[in-house]
Amino acid sequence: MTTELDRLIESFHAQRAGRAMHALATDLFPICRSITGDGVRATLRRLRADLPLEIHEVSTGTPVFDWKIPKEWNVRDAWIKAPDGSKVVDFADSNLHVLNYSRPVHGRLPLFELKAHLYTLPDQPDVIPYKTSYYEETWGFCLSHAQIQALPEGEYEYLIDSSLDDGALTYGEVYLKGRETDEVLFSAHICHPSLANDNLSAVAVLHHLAQALREVDRTWSYRFVFAPGTIGAITWLSQNEARLSAIRCGLVVAGVGDRGGFTYKRSRRGDAEIDLLVERALRESKQRYEAIDFSPDGYDERQYNSPGIGLSVGRLSRTPYGSYPEYHTSADNLDFIHPEALGGALEVLLRVCALLENSPRFESLVPRGEPQLGRRGLYSALGGHRDTDLRERAMLWILNYSDGEHCLADIAERSGFPLDLIEDVACVLEQNQLVRRAKSA
Ligand code: ZN
Repeated sequence: MTTELDRLIESFHAQRAGRAMHALATDLFPICRSITGDGVRATLRRLRADLPLEIHEVSTGTPVFDWKIPKEWNVRDAWIKAPDGSKVVDFADSNLHVLNYSRPVHGRLPLFELKAHLYTLPDQPDVIPYKTSYYEETWGFCLSHAQIQALPEGEYEYLIDSSLDDGALTYGEVYLKGRETDEVLFSAHICHPSLANDNLSAVAVLHHLAQALREVDRTWSYRFVFAPGTIGAITWLSQNEARLSAIRCGLVVAGVGDRGGFTYKRSRRGDAEIDLLVERALRESKQRYEAIDFSPDGYDERQYNSPGIGLSVGRLSRTPYGSYPEYHTSADNLDFIHPEALGGALEVLLRVCALLENSPRFESLVPRGEPQLGRRGLYSALGGHRDTDLRERAMLWILNYSDGEHCLADIAERSGFPLDLIEDVACVLEQNQLVRRAKSA
């Protein structure tokens, strides 16, 4: 059966889609984002221009699980003036120049004292580092090591025109209702300022995925969460705890715009349906990839897989965070992300959705012990095939995994049998009333 989603994948043009996603990242790049504040709002408003995105605000001081919504941070201007009055560091040139979440300051200091508030990367002297101090009130500037070395001694005037006040944490959510209430979750963080791969690549790809899914007939419902890293995902989870049981599986997407191959990080369970389907989709789209096991670090997969939440959420990235020199520096710019890389990521995600959409889940009607197949003439019903043995084994795989949790593509992946054989044999079992299509939770 060819669905609308299959047709979309058949006609998918990675370069063309990639160019549109790169253009969106270009629009969003100049905005100074953080875990709270107007930069996040401006980003979400831009996404809302093409999507039914709801913007949620959660007030400063609201408890969210073990955390509390912090004060809201906004910044208007920041600079350092040299002894001759010239601006040597200017927020207008790059929003990375301000230590993210700096409190407001204005003063004068001799260079040797000011240096306690200046951050550089001596090993990468030409780039500006990206640094944050969300939970400890301080202030600082980030600049290239080459620049700091060129500064003459003397007294410098500095200003950070920021505010740290009671306000809100903002996140965005897109809900696409399907025929079933079970949901597939996609999540990207939106708290980084002018950095392209980490996090705009994923924001752009999920924005386009939501647009594509919106246009096709859907069995499942889809939820997209665009929230600040860590605190934002924790906030979303704490505000939506009652609805989490509807989430069948999910993916965190982060860092998918560089030229590296894919890295798929499995859910904590390690063999959840989503884990098997992502690997299948990566192979189908002929992408280079490596699959790694879950670890409690990285992006918001940490929150979704935490023991009291227990969702099966994997993570799709390209080169792992922290292992490329551009990571968290001004070199992670719009030249570092590539349309074809963004397009490739969108294609993989479309294929994951197609597998979820097209692959039914069954439940066994004889779940206690193994059904007596011989009595039903099923061995003979399958006779005449040269691959009888294979089909009988496929039957056992389907019967055992027909617990309403595993779709046929999952069973194919798990068993190593071709998907068309699994589908064919599932049909025979259905006709013999040994399995039936599972109802949504
Ligand atoms: Zn980051």
